[in-house]
Amino acid sequence: MKAIQIQGFGGPEVMTLEQIADPKPAAGQVVVTVKAIGVNPVDAYIRAGLYGDRSFPFTPGMDAAGVVKLIGPDVKHVKVNDSVYVAGSLSGTYAEQVLCKASQVHPLPEKVSFEQGAGIGVPYSTAYFALFNRGHAMPGEIVLIHGASGGVGSAAVQIARSRGLVVIGTGGTEKGRKLVKDEGAHHVLDHHAPDYLDQLMKLTEGQGVDIILEMLANVNLGKDLKVLAPRGRVVVVGSRGPVEIDPRETMGRNADIRGMSMLYATEAEVSAVHAALVAGLENGNLRPVIGQKMSLAEAARAHQTIMEPGAYGKIILVP
Ligand code: NAP
Repeated sequence: MKAIQIQGFGGPEVMTLEQIADPKPAAGQVVVTVKAIGVNPVDAYIRAGLYGDRSFPFTPGMDAAGVVKLIGPDVKHVKVNDSVYVAGSLSGTYAEQVLCKASQVHPLPEKVSFEQGAGIGVPYSTAYFALFNRGHAMPGEIVLIHGASGGVGSAAVQIARSRGLVVIGTGGTEKGRKLVKDEGAHHVLDHHAPDYLDQLMKLTEGQGVDIILEMLANVNLGKDLKVLAPRGRVVVVGSRGPVEIDPRETMGRNADIRGMSMLYATEAEVSAVHAALVAGLENGNLRPVIGQKMSLAEAARAHQTIMEPGAYGKIILVP
């Protein structure tokens, strides 16, 4: 099969398309024929060496969707020819086939395309975990999705809206803000406008928001603390460096700053999150938005694009 291989950490150009051996499943494993691959910022961080040592060569990628090709002994919940989405894998998803633990493979409802299926794993599990496991969101609360135009943010808008929260989302471009509105945000703000946090305070009648899902904490965390309601929670989803904050801003509000990483969620937490996501895909509440499609050979271009401003849903690779 063809697969992207990384021979050493570096820029997007270290990814090359190679011919490698087809994977074979052992007990409790599944091989999926990949129809579409989701590109996430974490794929670029891993490629660049920011997530610690790896043995080379390796195939990057965590998300994909496709059809079950082979199952090993003891695999019960999927069968050959089932349509599935993949959330995490043993062999890397930037390939024509991917080897997974059975627990990393989830049924793909009929109304969800393979391209959409490739946009579920990292973004939707992160959005769900941030809202409920870490943010303890309750219906009726107000959530600011700070960076709502990309993969995680657009997922969070759909999930939060379907669960009865008041949703305020931000985007940096007109196109991105339209997506945020179309996916269900009650209010949309431009995170580059000088007065957007004043607008936010007006929208909440001076109260502030109960929860913030923060995609760029190194830029926003200090400002976030000033627009939190009493007992408010900021969930740090993304951060690309250090930031200065005034801790006193948390004191008068009894407010929390809560970090999160799906990489450190337990297996039981991950499994519960995917049960909720499959239900949301089945009932149509969750509808991954595909912004750009590229071929697998264009993985390097996809990694350049994912790190640039102007997010719009998901970038998908097609093998
Ligand atoms: P993405 O699709 O590239 O989206 C990035 C988002 O950040 C866009 O909505 C972008 O808006 C927004 N943004 C840019 N500048 C901003 C600013 N000044 N203020 C607020 N938002 C701003 O990436 P993603 O897949 O959604 O991931 C978002 C972040 O979460 C990344 O840093 C990623 O590494 C991280 N992440 C963490 C976890 C975890 O487990 N903790 C899991 C998944 C992702 P515009 O482009 O419209 O300006």
